[in-house]
Amino acid sequence: MKRDQFQGRVVVITGAASGIGEALCRRFSSAGATVVMLDMNEEGVCMLGDEISQTGCECMTIPCDVTDERACAEAIDTVITRYGGVDILVNNAGITQRSPFRTTGLTVYRKVMDVNFFGTLNCTKPALESLIERKGSIVVTSSHAGYAPLLGRTGYCASKHALHGFFGSLRAELREHGVHVMIVCPGFTQTALQERALDGDGSVTTHPQSRVGNQDTPAHVAEAIFRGAVKKKELLVLTAVGKMTRLLTKLAPSLYERMMIRSLEKELQRDND
Ligand code: NAD
Repeated sequence: MKRDQFQGRVVVITGAASGIGEALCRRFSSAGATVVMLDMNEEGVCMLGDEISQTGCECMTIPCDVTDERACAEAIDTVITRYGGVDILVNNAGITQRSPFRTTGLTVYRKVMDVNFFGTLNCTKPALESLIERKGSIVVTSSHAGYAPLLGRTGYCASKHALHGFFGSLRAELREHGVHVMIVCPGFTQTALQERALDGDGSVTTHPQSRVGNQDTPAHVAEAIFRGAVKKKELLVLTAVGKMTRLLTKLAPSLYERMMIRSLEKELQRDND
């Protein structure tokens, strides 16, 4: 990939201030793209913007909560006014939850769906006509939880499964318009996601997380997403555990469930159980 291969192309990335989103901003800007960074963490996204602009790359930061439909529409409108359009929209902002359904309030489910599912719609809708005009790409950060059940993550799983249903169907609608849709399923990655996981009462959980397989790095995940976007892949399942999980859930779902429960059941054991 040449340094300027993405020169003149406008890439909008949500959840840009941290983890996978931050690594994606660096990767696309290193390929010459104009990167627009959206995040509700104003300080974090502005610091990253300063750092990237000091390398001589064109970029813009927009503090924005993806659950705010109007703020997302205004953000995309600002991008189109300034740069003329959107070539790639990366719907990456996300939160997670670790708590059993029995003790989880419905507000937690609404919050997770609001960010992980409706947040992507809030950004995709106002960018759509531009993406059609430019025959662009929509990239969606899902998870293994987008195709496989996971103990203690009913809300997170529901939100990621919803992304597969929605964007798989949208891909079919947009095929005749030449818009590419790629769903990405990273494995456990070293980011702040789990540190901010919600507990059943909506507070940040203090219960430790179980891990399956080695943790990936955000830079490695971003490289895979970048290459997938260049090759216009439709589904990226990262890590060996992810590929095995996908296979098992299709071929032997009961076996997968037993293995998955064994790996994660400690997470749901609380002191007062
Ligand atoms: P992260 O917490 O490091 O980054 C998430 C970013 O999203 C943060 O900068 C946060 O401020 C932002 N964000 C959260 N809510 C927002 C909102 N309402 N509006 C705007 N921005 C908001 O976590 P990450 O691991 O980099 O997560 C990125 C994506 O990757 C998520 O969609 C997550 O579900 C997915 N993912 C992560 C892992 C993992 O193990 N880390 C695995 C699979 C999928």
